[in-house]
Amino acid sequence: MKILVVNAGSSSIKYQVFNMEDESVLAKGLVDRVGIPGTTLEHKPTGKDEVIIKKDLPDHTAGMQLVLEVLVNPEYGILKSMDEIKAVGHRVVHGGEFFSESVLIDDKVKKVIKDCFDIAPLHNPPNLMGIEACEELMPDVPHVAVFDTAFHQTMEPANYMYALPYEVYEKYRVRRYGFHGTSHYYVSHRAAEMMNKPFEECKIITLHLGNGASMAAIKDGRVVDTSMGFTPLEGLVMGTRSGDIDPAIVFFLMDKLGMDTAEANNYFNKKSGMLGLSGVSNDLRDILEAANSGNERAQLALDVYTTKVKGYIGNYVAKLNGCDCLVFTAGVGENGWDMREAICKDLDYLGIKLDPEKNKVRGKEVDVSADDSRVRIFVIPTDEELVIARDTLRLAQGK
Ligand code: AMP
Repeated sequence: MKILVVNAGSSSIKYQVFNMEDESVLAKGLVDRVGIPGTTLEHKPTGKDEVIIKKDLPDHTAGMQLVLEVLVNPEYGILKSMDEIKAVGHRVVHGGEFFSESVLIDDKVKKVIKDCFDIAPLHNPPNLMGIEACEELMPDVPHVAVFDTAFHQTMEPANYMYALPYEVYEKYRVRRYGFHGTSHYYVSHRAAEMMNKPFEECKIITLHLGNGASMAAIKDGRVVDTSMGFTPLEGLVMGTRSGDIDPAIVFFLMDKLGMDTAEANNYFNKKSGMLGLSGVSNDLRDILEAANSGNERAQLALDVYTTKVKGYIGNYVAKLNGCDCLVFTAGVGENGWDMREAICKDLDYLGIKLDPEKNKVRGKEVDVSADDSRVRIFVIPTDEELVIARDTLRLAQGK
């Protein structure tokens, strides 16, 4: 059975086609600048050359239409006809408190995704546009929504409630939700397999360190805590997001810099983090290079980054009352062996010891812990699309 996975952003559509017989990827691609002049489609059929098509497209429906044409193109397509696609899986960022697992999409589900616009204004509207475009073009196949927040819905109130007047939770659902759930789900399950232990008996700390970054503490198959909060702004230092700060800084800087709420939102989400602190870039590779050539602010940014991650490891070991393994994933976690080394340095009190030689790998599934480390340390490349494809298959088969 072939499954199409779609991740629609405000001006982009990412897609992958899976053959679920062996879970292989038949093609993947990206439509960029949807609705903006200069739309480009990059299509990568597995085993064939990449194809780039430039054609201005007014909206997500036109973008998806082009994707479907490319998928059945006799030259670079990978399907004889669209009938081969038996179901479509959609990444949806926010499922609020309504979804703790993936669901078949119907009108009620779409209404809830819409109800979450208020708490995910940047993500849920384009996600819904993607769903509606695909439904229009493929009305006869099941569509499934897979939520970034769903895996974290097992958190207890002690970890998801903020110390704010209780009414704002009741009225506006202000609480911790957590994001990157499909990634934390995938790598934590893989880690349990690598330890040969049932997932429901493991204590796992997952570190999704990409441009956006978050950690999760997982015990007995349930997420106990995660570092992103009501929005993806909370927690670790990220490419352009500040992560945890004293909230009073927001009022102080709004006053000093004369920012309104939209400007402040942009300031803490887009101008802060590694970019703001280093003044170099939001890309860890550039910052590592600058630090290696003696740039002190770049080094400071790296130190703030690693110290913050270490703090969360300590926090989560305490909340889990121990830990079987740490899992590094996403761009920095999978590739930045120097960052992994800096993060794990001086954690031997917690039983965390990295083997510096084993650790010198990029993008491979591997155990990098020292032989005498009580806690295993894994690098596991994430695969959010595969989680979406598997859930889509299961629900399309009525399981
Ligand atoms: P992602 O959001 O998962 O695509 O991750 C993007 C981030 O991964 C960027 O900040 C990249 O700089 C970072 N990254 C990719 N390769 C490396 C590397 N070799 N060392 C450090 N960071 C890397």
